[in-house]
Amino acid sequence: MSVLRISDLTIDYRLGEGSVRAVDHVSLEIEAGEAVGIVGESGCGKTTLGLSVPLLLPTNASISDGQIVLNGESLIGRSEEEMNHLRWKSVAFVFQGAMNALNPVHRIDKQILEAIQTHEPETSKDDAQARVLELIELVGISPSRAKSYPHEFSGGMRQRAMIAMSLACRPSLLIADEPTTALDVISQAQILALLGELRRQENLSLVMISHDLSAIKKVCDRIVVMYAGVIVESGPTDTVLRRKNGVVTAAHPYTKALMGAHPDLSGERILAPGLVGNPPDLSKPITGCRFAARCPEAMEVCRTQTPPTVTITPGHSAACHLAVRSAS
Ligand code: SF4
Repeated sequence: MSVLRISDLTIDYRLGEGSVRAVDHVSLEIEAGEAVGIVGESGCGKTTLGLSVPLLLPTNASISDGQIVLNGESLIGRSEEEMNHLRWKSVAFVFQGAMNALNPVHRIDKQILEAIQTHEPETSKDDAQARVLELIELVGISPSRAKSYPHEFSGGMRQRAMIAMSLACRPSLLIADEPTTALDVISQAQILALLGELRRQENLSLVMISHDLSAIKKVCDRIVVMYAGVIVESGPTDTVLRRKNGVVTAAHPYTKALMGAHPDLSGERILAPGLVGNPPDLSKPITGCRFAARCPEAMEVCRTQTPPTVTITPGHSAACHLAVRSAS
Protein backbone atom coordinates (compact mmCIF):
# COMPACT_ATOMS: atom_id res chain seq x y z
CA MET A 1 0.00 0.00 0.00
CA SER A 2 1.22 3.51 -0.76
CA VAL A 3 2.15 5.60 2.28
CA LEU A 4 0.97 8.73 0.48
CA ARG A 5 -1.42 9.08 -2.43
CA ILE A 6 -2.15 12.55 -3.80
CA SER A 7 -4.72 12.65 -6.58
CA ASP A 8 -5.65 15.59 -8.76
CA LEU A 9 -4.70 18.06 -6.04
CA THR A 10 -5.44 21.71 -6.78
CA ILE A 11 -4.43 24.53 -4.43
CA ASP A 12 -5.25 28.22 -4.85
CA TYR A 13 -3.94 31.27 -2.96
CA ARG A 14 -6.32 34.18 -2.49
CA LEU A 15 -4.54 37.41 -3.33
CA GLY A 16 -6.62 40.58 -3.00
CA GLU A 17 -9.53 40.30 -5.42
CA GLY A 18 -8.03 37.42 -7.38
CA SER A 19 -6.30 34.11 -6.83
CA VAL A 20 -3.22 32.22 -7.95
CA ARG A 21 -3.35 28.52 -8.76
CA ALA A 22 -0.12 27.28 -7.17
CA VAL A 23 -0.77 23.54 -7.65
CA ASP A 24 -2.92 22.40 -10.57
CA HIS A 25 -4.30 18.85 -10.57
CA VAL A 26 -1.15 17.16 -9.32
CA SER A 27 -1.07 13.41 -8.63
CA LEU A 28 1.72 11.60 -6.83
CA GLU A 29 2.22 8.31 -4.94
CA ILE A 30 4.93 7.43 -2.45
CA GLU A 31 5.58 3.83 -1.41
CA ALA A 32 6.83 2.66 1.99
CA GLY A 33 10.56 3.27 2.33
CA GLU A 34 10.73 5.24 -0.92
CA ALA A 35 12.54 8.58 -1.23
CA VAL A 36 11.10 11.04 -3.74
CA GLY A 37 12.64 14.38 -4.63
CA ILE A 38 10.55 17.30 -5.83
CA VAL A 39 12.45 19.92 -7.82
CA GLY A 40 11.67 23.09 -9.68
CA GLU A 41 12.43 26.80 -9.51
CA SER A 42 10.95 29.11 -6.84
CA GLY A 43 7.19 29.48 -7.17
CA CYS A 44 6.66 26.17 -9.02
CA GLY A 45 4.41 24.84 -6.23
CA LYS A 46 6.78 22.31 -4.65
CA THR A 47 6.63 23.74 -1.09
CA THR A 48 2.87 24.30 -1.35
CA LEU A 49 2.47 20.66 -2.37
CA GLY A 50 4.61 19.53 0.58
CA LEU A 51 2.77 21.70 3.09
CA SER A 52 -0.58 20.41 1.89
CA VAL A 53 0.10 16.89 3.22
CA PRO A 54 0.07 17.78 6.94
CA LEU A 55 -2.54 20.47 6.08
CA LEU A 56 -0.15 23.24 7.11
CA LEU A 57 -0.93 25.60 4.25
CA PRO A 58 -1.01 29.37 4.90
CA THR A 59 -4.42 30.77 5.80
CA ASN A 60 -4.95 32.35 2.36
CA ALA A 61 -4.51 28.97 0.63
CA SER A 62 -7.34 26.58 -0.09
CA ILE A 63 -7.51 23.08 -1.52
CA SER A 64 -10.10 23.40 -4.26
CA ASP A 65 -9.93 19.89 -5.67
CA GLY A 66 -8.36 16.48 -5.19
CA GLN A 67 -7.49 14.01 -2.48
CA ILE A 68 -4.64 13.41 -0.06
CA VAL A 69 -4.57 9.90 1.43
CA LEU A 70 -1.95 9.11 4.08
CA ASN A 71 -1.58 5.49 5.23
CA GLY A 72 -5.02 4.78 3.81
CA GLU A 73 -6.74 7.72 5.57
CA SER A 74 -8.17 10.65 3.67
CA LEU A 75 -6.93 13.96 5.12
CA ILE A 76 -8.83 16.75 3.38
CA GLY A 77 -11.57 18.15 5.55
CA ARG A 78 -10.05 16.93 8.84
CA SER A 79 -10.19 19.24 11.84
CA GLU A 80 -7.08 20.75 13.43
CA GLU A 81 -7.53 18.42 16.39
CA GLU A 82 -7.65 15.35 14.17
CA MET A 83 -4.59 16.56 12.23
CA ASN A 84 -2.69 17.15 15.46
CA HIS A 85 -2.98 13.40 16.12
CA LEU A 86 -1.52 12.61 12.70
CA ARG A 87 1.23 15.26 12.55
CA TRP A 88 4.53 14.00 13.97
CA LYS A 89 3.09 10.46 14.31
CA SER A 90 2.20 9.77 10.67
CA VAL A 91 3.84 12.68 8.90
CA ALA A 92 6.58 15.01 10.08
CA PHE A 93 7.82 18.12 8.31
CA VAL A 94 11.28 19.67 8.43
CA PHE A 95 10.77 23.28 7.41
CA GLN A 96 13.10 25.41 5.32
CA GLY A 97 15.70 26.92 7.69
CA ALA A 98 14.37 24.60 10.42
CA MET A 99 17.68 24.76 12.29
CA ASN A 100 16.74 28.32 13.25
CA ALA A 101 13.40 27.16 14.64
CA LEU A 102 14.85 25.66 17.84
CA ASN A 103 13.91 27.57 20.97
CA PRO A 104 17.14 29.37 22.01
CA VAL A 105 16.35 29.31 25.75
CA HIS A 106 15.67 25.58 26.09
CA ARG A 107 18.16 22.74 26.03
CA ILE A 108 18.00 20.40 23.01
CA ASP A 109 16.88 17.32 24.97
CA LYS A 110 14.02 19.26 26.57
CA GLN A 111 12.73 20.39 23.17
CA ILE A 112 12.68 16.85 21.77
CA LEU A 113 11.13 15.55 25.00
CA GLU A 114 8.36 18.11 24.73
CA ALA A 115 7.53 16.91 21.21
CA ILE A 116 7.18 13.31 22.47
CA GLN A 117 5.11 14.28 25.53
CA THR A 118 2.80 16.52 23.51
CA HIS A 119 2.05 13.97 20.80
CA GLU A 120 2.36 10.75 22.84
CA PRO A 121 1.06 11.67 26.32
CA GLU A 122 0.73 7.97 27.12
CA THR A 123 4.54 7.52 26.98
CA SER A 124 6.14 7.56 30.46
CA LYS A 125 8.73 10.25 31.21
CA ASP A 126 11.51 7.65 31.58
CA ASP A 127 10.68 6.05 28.22
CA ALA A 128 10.43 9.46 26.57
CA GLN A 129 13.82 10.51 27.98
CA ALA A 130 15.41 7.26 26.78
CA ARG A 131 13.92 7.87 23.33
CA VAL A 132 15.38 11.41 23.28
CA LEU A 133 18.89 10.07 23.83
CA GLU A 134 18.32 7.35 21.21
CA LEU A 135 17.21 9.96 18.69
CA ILE A 136 20.14 12.24 19.42
CA GLU A 137 22.51 9.33 18.88
CA LEU A 138 20.61 8.24 15.75
CA VAL A 139 21.34 11.58 14.05
CA GLY A 140 25.02 11.36 14.91
CA ILE A 141 25.21 13.67 17.94
CA SER A 142 26.87 12.39 21.08
CA PRO A 143 24.26 11.93 23.85
CA SER A 144 26.72 13.83 26.09
CA ARG A 145 25.67 16.96 24.12
CA ALA A 146 21.96 16.43 24.80
CA LYS A 147 21.85 19.13 27.45
CA SER A 148 23.38 21.78 25.18
CA TYR A 149 21.55 24.93 24.16
CA PRO A 150 21.03 25.52 20.41
CA HIS A 151 23.70 28.27 20.29
CA GLU A 152 26.27 25.70 21.43
CA PHE A 153 25.66 23.66 18.25
CA SER A 154 26.93 24.35 14.73
CA GLY A 155 24.35 24.87 11.94
CA GLY A 156 24.74 21.24 10.83
CA MET A 157 24.21 19.96 14.39
CA ARG A 158 21.10 22.12 14.83
CA GLN A 159 19.71 20.71 11.59
CA ARG A 160 20.45 17.19 12.90
CA ALA A 161 18.64 18.07 16.14
CA MET A 162 15.62 19.23 14.11
CA ILE A 163 15.66 15.97 12.16
CA ALA A 164 15.86 14.05 15.47
CA MET A 165 12.84 16.02 16.70
CA SER A 166 10.90 15.30 13.52
CA LEU A 167 11.47 11.56 14.10
CA ALA A 168 10.40 11.77 17.77
CA CYS A 169 7.05 10.03 17.21
CA ARG A 170 8.27 7.57 14.55
CA PRO A 171 6.42 9.01 11.53
CA SER A 172 6.01 6.85 8.43
CA LEU A 173 6.59 9.87 6.17
CA LEU A 174 9.11 12.68 6.54
CA ILE A 175 8.85 15.74 4.32
CA ALA A 176 12.02 17.82 4.28
CA ASP A 177 11.88 21.23 2.58
CA GLU A 178 15.35 22.34 1.45
CA PRO A 179 16.99 20.48 4.37
CA THR A 180 20.50 21.53 3.39
CA THR A 181 19.97 25.20 2.48
CA ALA A 182 22.16 27.61 4.47
CA LEU A 183 24.58 24.86 5.48
CA ASP A 184 28.23 24.70 4.44
CA VAL A 185 29.11 21.97 1.91
CA ILE A 186 30.54 19.56 4.51
CA SER A 187 27.38 19.82 6.67
CA GLN A 188 25.24 19.48 3.52
CA ALA A 189 26.97 16.21 2.62
CA GLN A 190 26.58 14.94 6.21
CA ILE A 191 22.84 15.80 6.36
CA LEU A 192 22.22 14.12 2.99
CA ALA A 193 24.09 10.99 4.12
CA LEU A 194 22.09 11.06 7.37
CA LEU A 195 18.74 11.28 5.54
CA GLY A 196 19.73 8.36 3.29
CA GLU A 197 20.79 6.29 6.30
CA LEU A 198 17.70 7.11 8.40
CA ARG A 199 15.48 6.18 5.55
CA ARG A 200 17.04 2.71 5.35
CA GLN A 201 17.29 2.15 9.12
CA GLU A 202 13.78 3.38 9.98
CA ASN A 203 12.08 2.26 6.71
CA LEU A 204 11.01 5.87 6.41
CA SER A 205 9.31 7.28 3.32
CA LEU A 206 10.93 10.56 2.43
CA VAL A 207 9.87 13.52 0.33
CA MET A 208 12.73 15.92 -0.22
CA ILE A 209 11.89 19.31 -1.69
CA SER A 210 14.87 21.03 -3.21
CA HIS A 211 16.23 23.09 -6.07
CA ASP A 212 19.50 21.18 -5.76
CA LEU A 213 19.62 18.35 -8.30
CA SER A 214 22.78 16.82 -6.88
CA ALA A 215 21.17 16.61 -3.40
CA ILE A 216 18.14 14.85 -4.91
CA LYS A 217 20.41 12.51 -6.86
CA LYS A 218 22.27 11.50 -3.69
CA VAL A 219 19.19 10.64 -1.62
CA CYS A 220 16.14 9.98 -3.81
CA ASP A 221 15.01 6.94 -5.83
CA ARG A 222 12.55 8.98 -7.83
CA ILE A 223 12.37 12.58 -8.97
CA VAL A 224 9.34 14.74 -9.71
CA VAL A 225 9.97 17.92 -11.71
CA MET A 226 7.43 20.71 -11.24
CA TYR A 227 6.94 23.78 -13.39
CA ALA A 228 4.30 26.48 -12.85
CA GLY A 229 2.10 24.31 -10.60
CA VAL A 230 2.16 21.07 -12.59
CA ILE A 231 4.36 17.97 -12.82
CA VAL A 232 6.22 18.05 -16.12
CA GLU A 233 8.41 14.97 -15.70
CA SER A 234 8.80 12.17 -13.19
CA GLY A 235 10.77 8.97 -13.08
CA PRO A 236 13.67 7.10 -11.52
CA THR A 237 16.34 9.63 -10.52
CA ASP A 238 19.08 7.78 -12.39
CA THR A 239 17.00 7.84 -15.59
CA VAL A 240 15.80 11.44 -15.46
CA LEU A 241 19.10 12.97 -14.32
CA ARG A 242 21.32 10.88 -16.60
CA ARG A 243 23.96 12.30 -18.91
CA LYS A 244 25.09 10.04 -21.74
CA ASN A 245 28.46 11.06 -23.17
CA GLY A 246 27.92 14.47 -21.57
CA VAL A 247 24.44 14.84 -23.12
CA VAL A 248 21.40 15.22 -20.90
CA THR A 249 18.85 12.47 -21.60
CA ALA A 250 15.82 13.89 -19.71
CA ALA A 251 12.59 13.87 -21.72
CA HIS A 252 11.20 17.33 -20.90
CA PRO A 253 12.93 20.49 -22.16
CA TYR A 254 12.46 22.10 -18.72
CA THR A 255 14.29 19.23 -16.98
CA LYS A 256 17.01 19.55 -19.64
CA ALA A 257 17.26 23.27 -18.91
CA LEU A 258 17.54 22.63 -15.16
CA MET A 259 20.30 20.13 -15.80
CA GLY A 260 21.98 22.45 -18.28
CA ALA A 261 22.16 25.11 -15.58
CA HIS A 262 23.94 22.61 -13.35
CA PRO A 263 27.57 22.14 -14.38
CA ASP A 264 28.75 18.61 -15.11
CA LEU A 265 31.93 18.36 -13.05
CA SER A 266 33.26 15.47 -15.13
CA GLY A 267 32.61 17.11 -18.47
CA GLU A 268 34.13 19.86 -20.57
CA ARG A 269 34.51 23.30 -18.88
CA ILE A 270 31.67 25.40 -20.30
CA LEU A 271 29.61 28.34 -19.12
CA ALA A 272 26.26 26.94 -17.92
CA PRO A 273 23.63 28.41 -20.26
CA GLY A 274 20.89 29.10 -17.67
CA LEU A 275 17.25 29.58 -18.56
CA VAL A 276 15.99 32.91 -19.81
CA GLY A 277 12.54 34.36 -19.11
CA ASN A 278 10.08 33.86 -16.27
CA PRO A 279 7.39 31.33 -15.44
CA PRO A 280 3.84 32.27 -16.55
CA ASP A 281 1.44 34.35 -14.47
CA LEU A 282 -0.57 31.75 -12.54
CA SER A 283 -3.39 34.18 -11.77
CA LYS A 284 -4.50 33.96 -15.41
CA PRO A 285 -5.73 30.97 -17.41
CA ILE A 286 -2.96 29.34 -19.44
CA THR A 287 -3.45 27.99 -22.95
CA GLY A 288 -1.13 25.30 -24.25
CA CYS A 289 2.14 24.27 -22.62
CA ARG A 290 3.13 26.38 -19.59
CA PHE A 291 6.77 26.25 -20.65
CA ALA A 292 6.19 27.29 -24.28
CA ALA A 293 7.40 30.90 -23.89
CA ARG A 294 10.81 29.71 -22.62
CA CYS A 295 11.15 26.41 -24.45
CA PRO A 296 13.86 26.23 -27.14
CA GLU A 297 12.00 23.33 -28.76
CA ALA A 298 8.49 24.86 -28.79
CA MET A 299 6.27 24.05 -31.78
CA GLU A 300 3.02 25.57 -33.00
CA VAL A 301 0.93 22.94 -31.21
CA CYS A 302 2.61 23.83 -27.89
CA ARG A 303 0.99 27.29 -27.84
CA THR A 304 -2.54 25.99 -28.33
CA GLN A 305 -2.78 22.53 -26.77
CA THR A 306 -1.91 21.38 -23.26
CA PRO A 307 0.55 18.50 -23.62
CA PRO A 308 -0.72 15.20 -22.18
CA THR A 309 1.45 13.19 -19.81
CA VAL A 310 2.91 10.22 -21.66
CA THR A 311 4.76 7.18 -20.39
CA ILE A 312 8.23 6.97 -21.90
CA THR A 313 9.35 3.81 -20.10
CA PRO A 314 7.60 2.16 -17.13
CA GLY A 315 7.74 4.62 -14.23
CA HIS A 316 9.11 7.47 -16.37
CA SER A 317 6.70 10.02 -17.83
CA ALA A 318 6.72 13.55 -19.23
CA ALA A 319 4.10 16.12 -20.19
CA CYS A 320 5.44 17.35 -23.52
CA HIS A 321 4.28 17.19 -27.15
CA LEU A 322 7.76 16.00 -28.14
CA ALA A 323 7.39 13.00 -25.83
CA VAL A 324 3.98 12.31 -27.42
CA ARG A 325 5.64 12.27 -30.86
CA SER A 326 8.47 9.97 -29.87
CA ALA A 327 6.05 7.61 -28.09
CA SER A 328 3.78 7.29 -31.16
FE1 SF4 B 1 8.50 22.65 -25.16
FE2 SF4 B 1 6.30 22.07 -26.49
FE3 SF4 B 1 7.33 20.28 -24.86
FE4 SF4 B 1 6.17 22.45 -23.89
S1 SF4 B 1 5.17 20.81 -25.03
S2 SF4 B 1 8.06 21.60 -23.24
S3 SF4 B 1 6.76 23.97 -25.40
S4 SF4 B 1 8.25 21.07 -26.72
